[in-house]
Amino acid sequence: MRLDTTRAILSDLIGFPSVSSDTNLPIIHYIADRLEAAGAAVEVMMDPSGHKANLFATLGEARDGGLVLSGHSDVVPVTDQDWTSDPFTMTERDGKLYGRGACDMKGFIAACLGSLDLLAEAARTRPIHFAFTHDEEVGCLGAQELVKILAKRPVKPALCIIGEPTSMQVFDGNKGCCEYTVRFEGRPGHSSAPDKGVNAVEYAVRYINRLFELRAELVKRCPEGSRFDPPPTTLNVGALRGGISHNVIAPRAELNWEIRPINEADMRFVKEEIASFVEDTLLPEMRAIAPEAGISTETIGEVVGLEPMDENAARDLVFALTGQNHAGCVAFNTEAGLFQSIGMDAVICGPGSIEQAHKADEFVSLDQMSQALAMIGRLASARS
Ligand SMILES: [Zn+2]
Repeated sequence: MRLDTTRAILSDLIGFPSVSSDTNLPIIHYIADRLEAAGAAVEVMMDPSGHKANLFATLGEARDGGLVLSGHSDVVPVTDQDWTSDPFTMTERDGKLYGRGACDMKGFIAACLGSLDLLAEAARTRPIHFAFTHDEEVGCLGAQELVKILAKRPVKPALCIIGEPTSMQVFDGNKGCCEYTVRFEGRPGHSSAPDKGVNAVEYAVRYINRLFELRAELVKRCPEGSRFDPPPTTLNVGALRGGISHNVIAPRAELNWEIRPINEADMRFVKEEIASFVEDTLLPEMRAIAPEAGISTETIGEVVGLEPMDENAARDLVFALTGQNHAGCVAFNTEAGLFQSIGMDAVICGPGSIEQAHKADEFVSLDQMSQALAMIGRLASARS
């Protein structure tokens, strides 16, 4: 019965094409309506653009010690993906529910919304909060704003379950994700006179080479016994665009790169090293020829990871709810570290597998949805 209701909610949620580049307001209002109907106090927090919003809601009395159920409302695009059926129409085949966002992570949101009666019961023991954000897939932009607001409030939730797809396994650590766009401004000219210009592509390549040196350092810095897979902080050069033609000194280049740090120290190390390479080496050389040349760095997002802790009440709660007693670390980024950064205990556990996320024919199995409903349902009877 509950599974049927939840499946219908998931179908509705998948029907909202809430790709990160587009507005998420329709899906947020749908979720808000359901939460309000269940008696929750709902806040829709608009971003400055007016096209995006976070939702924060509370069931039960507003007091300290509450539990947050957290998910992101946005999904990745379906561009250039070969889907068997329409990605924004939920389709059931062989016990699996297909659609964009099925596992990442509308499945978990549907399980929450399908359990509101039980969660209202659970809210008698402690407040149950819902945090549904925008723009997780493009750097956790919504969650970064949300935690700033929550941090200032007199009443604070204590625990957070992030329902990212973990096949319902418990994870108490994830790497961070820091994304940067670097723009190189050179001076164009004829390729026959390279000394008179500043080749932006060339400087971008030198910058990249320095990143690769730092990547080798990160492997050496990796602490023994790191539970992450792969164990060290990783670094990726994702895109490089620049230049005009064979015989023109490239006036501009743009580079997109990221690191996935296992701790804040690695994040600081890479940032400081690359910044001093720019200041002490690249910029002086560029400006000796062209004073107008420059390198500017735009931070797309700097999301701290979830650092595994010895004491973690959110992990212990999910252990009790699911009967598991082992927690792992995931390599993909989540919003968990942001909640941890404002003093909450956070854990990641949700239906569906990351293997299916972001791909064509994304799905969540009915079995996984049942497990998620069972976990949430047990909150109604759980103590602590
Ligand atoms: Zn996700």
